[in-house]
Amino acid sequence: MVSHLPLLRALTYEVIIGFKNQKVYNQFVLMVEKVVVGQLATNCYLVTDDKSRETLVIDPGDDAELIINRVRDLELKPKQIVVTHGHFDHLLAVNELKTAFEIPFLLSRKDEVMLVWFRKSTQHFVGFDPGPAPIVDAYLRRKIQVFDIKFKIIETPGHTPGGICLYLKEKNILFSGDTIFAEGAVGRTDYPYCNKNDLSESIKKLMRLPDDTLVYPGHGEETTIGQEKMFHRMQK
Ligand SMILES: [Zn+2]
Repeated sequence: MVSHLPLLRALTYEVIIGFKNQKVYNQFVLMVEKVVVGQLATNCYLVTDDKSRETLVIDPGDDAELIINRVRDLELKPKQIVVTHGHFDHLLAVNELKTAFEIPFLLSRKDEVMLVWFRKSTQHFVGFDPGPAPIVDAYLRRKIQVFDIKFKIIETPGHTPGGICLYLKEKNILFSGDTIFAEGAVGRTDYPYCNKNDLSESIKKLMRLPDDTLVYPGHGEETTIGQEKMFHRMQK
């Protein structure tokens, strides 16, 4: 196992080291591997606990083969799939990953309705038939536990009715889906099920997180809450 670490580190997008002052048993190294997938360049994240190699898959938005190969190359053990919201470009690879790794797919209850449009939206926007929508195995609640880590689920409706962000307080990281992106960009709200007011409330909620929170968005580059606060203030 140890012999693979240099390889993993080299390929890993970000390595976050445990806090120095905590007791040894509390230390964990979390690795965040970004795989950009599909025609809409969605960020799929493989969030892995260094010790157990157990992985949370966030937003596998297409290119199942690419994701599966990355998992195999890095010798990861996927445990769950969490999708930040019900848009097809965040879940096109869910069915294949569920089959390949025999793991559950979690989504917020309020976004399950979005799956009705999965097939049609995919055909309309990217021009192929993805087959039936994946079946939700469990609904996201307030927290989810993967390996020894509890991720807080922050409800951030607006872009979709049941959009969520995943927040890991100990490491100060946020997976923001399509709620916020770098440089003040935010999720689109021009579909009938969107809600602009809800989105601005959701953004306010995120802006209350610590400034040094590292944000991994659903598309594009990483940012921090502090950086985004500046952009949102400028836009007012
Ligand atoms: Zn979206």
